[in-house]
Parts: sequence; C-alpha cells; structure tokens
Amino acid sequence: MTNYDYDLFTIGAGSGGVRASRLASKYGAKVGVAEEYRVGGTCVIRGCIPKKYLVYASEYGHGFHDAKGYGWTAENVSFDWTKLIENKDNEIDRLNGIYIRNLKNAGADIFQTRAEVKDAHTVHLVDENRDITAERILIATGGTPWVDDSVPGFDLGVTSNEAFHLEKLPKHVVVAGGGYIAIEFACIFKGLGCDVCLVYRGEDILRHFDADVSVQVHTELQRQGIRVITQALFDKIEKTETGQKRVSLSTGDHIDTDMVFWAVGRKPATQGLGLENAGVELGKNGAIKVDDQSKSSVGSIFAVGDVTDRVNLTPVAIREGAAFAETFYNDNPTQMDYRFIPKAVFSQPPVGSVGYAEHEARHEFKNVDIYKTTFRPMKQILSGSEERVMMKLVVDGDTDRVLGCHIVGADAAEMIQCVAIAVKAGLKKKDFDDTVALHPTIAEELVTMREKFIPNP
Ligand code: NDP
Repeated sequence: MTNYDYDLFTIGAGSGGVRASRLASKYGAKVGVAEEYRVGGTCVIRGCIPKKYLVYASEYGHGFHDAKGYGWTAENVSFDWTKLIENKDNEIDRLNGIYIRNLKNAGADIFQTRAEVKDAHTVHLVDENRDITAERILIATGGTPWVDDSVPGFDLGVTSNEAFHLEKLPKHVVVAGGGYIAIEFACIFKGLGCDVCLVYRGEDILRHFDADVSVQVHTELQRQGIRVITQALFDKIEKTETGQKRVSLSTGDHIDTDMVFWAVGRKPATQGLGLENAGVELGKNGAIKVDDQSKSSVGSIFAVGDVTDRVNLTPVAIREGAAFAETFYNDNPTQMDYRFIPKAVFSQPPVGSVGYAEHEARHEFKNVDIYKTTFRPMKQILSGSEERVMMKLVVDGDTDRVLGCHIVGADAAEMIQCVAIAVKAGLKKKDFDDTVALHPTIAEELVTMREKFIPNP
C-alpha cells in the first residue's frame, strides 16, 4: 500500500491506456484513468474502426458496378451519407460504452477531464481543478493530426478528425499526403462517388512500403479514376466566390474543390501536458522518450502507444500497455517484440505487408531472392474490372528464410495476418512450397510461386 491516491494514474483512455489500466487493475492495483474526449481513443472513436466502416460503405460503390457482370441489375442505386454516419455513430457509441464498462468492471476510476502532469507523482485534473497523486503515471495520450500551418489558408482544410462527421459528402475532394490516411480516404471518397485528387510531395506514395506495393497502389488509384499528382506541395488555399476552395500547388497549377483534406501525418499529443515541467525528456516531434520498459526519463512516469512514436499502430499500443502492466503489476517482466509486425493499408484494393521490403532486405542480407507475381483475380474476370493482385515474397538466398511478404489485392489484410505467423516463426520458402494450395483462391499463389524473379538487366 502506498501513500499515493492511486498506484497507477493513466492519462488517455485509448487502446494502450485502457489495456494497461484494465490489466493493472485486474492484478490488484488501484487505478485512475483520465480522458478528455471519449473513452476508446483514436482507434475506436475517430480512427481504425469508423474508418473501416467507411471503407466497407465505399466498397459497395464498386460492388454495384462489378455485380453487372454477374447478372445483377442495380439501377437507380443511391447513397445516403447521413444514414451511414448515423449508423456508424451508433456503433461507436456502443463500443464507447463497452470500453467504459470494461474499465469500470476492472475496478478503475474514470475521470472525464483533461489531465496534466504537475510533477513526478502528481496529476492535475483540469476540469475538476484538483490534484491527484500516483505512484506511477502512464501517459497514453496518442497522437493528433498535423497540418502544415505555414500554408496560407491551411485552416480551410479538414483532417481525419472532422472527416468522420461531415454534414454532407463533398462532390470533389483534394487530399494532401501519400501515407496511410491519405490513400485510405482517397479510396473511401472515390468509392462513395466523389471526384478525388491526391497531391503528394514525393514521387512514390506509401514510400515506406516495398516499392512494388507503392507502384501497384498508385496504378490502382489511377485505374479507379483518382487523379494522383506527385512532387507537388500546397502553396496556398483560398475561398472562391462560389464558396469552393482553390488549392494552388507548387507546380503552378490550381484546383477548385469542395473539400481539402490534410493527411500529412500525425504528431504525438504531448502539447500542454506539463511533461517538461516534470522533467520528462521529449524527442523529435514532441514524442516521449522511453526505454524498453516504456519508462521515461522520470522513473515514475511511463508512456505507451503513439505518444512515444515507436510503431504507431493500435495492436502495438495494446501490447506495450500489456507489457507495462505485466512487468509492474504482475511481477512478470515482459517486453514488446517489434519484429515482423503485420501492416495493412485499407486502400481499395488493400495492402498487406509483413517483414522486410526488398530494399531493406538487400541492405541487410547478402543474397536476396524475390518471388513475385501480378495477375487479374478470378472475381474480376466476369466483373470486367481491370483490378490486379500483386504478391511478393522476399527470401534470404543463403538460409531460404522468408523475410517479407507484400500483397496488394482483395483481402490482402486478412491474408497477411496469417502469413505473418509463418514469417515471424522464421519459416522457409520450402515450407511455403511444401504447403498444398487451396484452390481457387488468391492466397494459393503464395505457395505456388516457384520461379525467382530476375530483374531486366
Ligand atoms: P503517414 O506518415 O503514413 O503519411 C504522411 C504523409 O504526409 C506522407 O506521405 C508524407 O510524405 C506526407 N507529408 C509529411 N509532411 C508533409 C508536408 N509538410 N507537406 C506535404 N506532405 C507531407 O501519416 P498518416 O497521417 O497517413 O498516418 C499517421 C499514422 O497513423 C501512420 O503512420 C500509421 O502508423 C497510423 N495509421 C495506420 C493505419 C492502418 O494501420 N491502416 C491507418 C491510418 C493511420 P513522405 O512520405 O514524403 O514523408
């Protein structure tokens, strides 16, 4: 028993904070949690979950068209944005309720207020204007969309935060960025019937992925009619007389649009948290610097999830939160393993990726073998769609170990979760070859790629 109000006080009830708090509470700690917005955090309230519902909604946009080749007539179909948002919001409310219940059932106290750190053991509850002490403080405040405020008129644009609550669906959207959120929302808006233009500052979108993924996604965006402008930045955004927004680009072009969508990255949410006063060291972008136990430079202050800017994904935050609780409240020292984390971009078609990209493998291994294929999947033959699948295995030529797998195509995210087990377990290309194909599927190509890819000289 300590002399503090709480054994653990968590700021931020998102994926990482909730997991750590629930587990610590279950292991007998007295836990308090403060949340300034809604329990559930970005993933549940205005990220992964509502995004996936918008993805499902927009897939029907292509589905009605593709169904014609299968004999369906789908005349006069219409789409109601308000209905979608209402249904999505109802589901988010339900999930929010479950998260609150789970925390309470675990025995944690929830404080619906912004909380700031006062010192190594004190948290100030802003809305209640009082202090609470804790033996350990866990910062799990996540990240927040970043916009380039050096661009005149930047505030005429919206971010993903607002996109989930638009009053009506715009006819034309300009998206800035070439990462996860930009690509996913470009596809969502396109599938729902908007004209979409994506403006990316570099040459290759999704540049952190394998180059073949980048090329394939770029091709698929263009195939579905998304205009992709590369090597261009926003110079300014202005309101036109008709109420539209005019985006001027560094290329000299301008585009008139109904909505400008910023998707140029997210930043750790540490602003105004009082961390500097408490002596917590921050790194690039304001991320909390932590060691492999998620401990900050102040021994009693810890941080998990996007606020540490390690690998910014929900399941990682959850694992980091669990490792923290196991280590400090269950006498079970546990470390997060960051190797071979599967990733997905819910573009249309989606991306699934695990392990080394080809360029990363070539940098680290002497002999790298590549197996890859692109093909038109069976479903698209009758639909008449030109959508293609790209699959690639990156293999260590010396040991035969599969180092990475990258897929662009229908159900890529579902496939990659399973492939990730094999890749993380260190299985060899021979193990893939020895596995009997499941026919007819897209995934069977993963075990039937026999010929090494030889690049053109
Ligand atoms: P990303 O880091 O994926 O992409 C940011 C994009 O913005 C990049 O293309 C980047 O270009 C570009 N950019 C950065 N600065 C500027 C600038 N000043 N002007 C113009 N463009 C700029 O961030 P997101 O916001 O898309 O997503 C944030 C994080 O959230 C992701 O990293 C991911 O971890 C997570 N996320 C995961 C999802 C999933 O798992 N499916 C879905 C959504 C988010 P460049 O490439 O040249 O740096």
